[in-house]
Amino acid sequence: MSASIEERLYTIRYKADEKSHLIVKDQDVCARCELKECNYFCPSDVYLWHDDLKLTSVAFENCVECGTCRLACPYYNIEWKYPTGGYGVSYKLG
Ligand code: SF4
Ligand code: SF4
Repeated sequence: MSASIEERLYTIRYKADEKSHLIVKDQDVCARCELKECNYFCPSDVYLWHDDLKLTSVAFENCVECGTCRLACPYYNIEWKYPTGGYGVSYKLG
């Protein structure tokens, strides 16, 4: 049986900053975005569209800094940068 995303994330150590290093620039663009691709391409399930609130939430603490969202949002609606020095992910295994 393969491990769930949550189980895999336990193999990684995070030091979360208080401020997100990932910003959704315009929630109105997300509301018009038909496929909400970020809900599927992020390996850490950082992005989640909330239809009731009409917004994309960002669980930046789980980001593994792969950089995919910098390129894969079809509207370039995600401002991406590395976490401030000393914060972010460090890999314990591999
Ligand atoms: S893919 Fe981009 S525009 Fe679409 S919901 Fe995600 S952040 Fe918003
Ligand atoms: S950099 Fe990778 S892990 Fe982090 S939010 Fe973007 S797609 Fe998800």
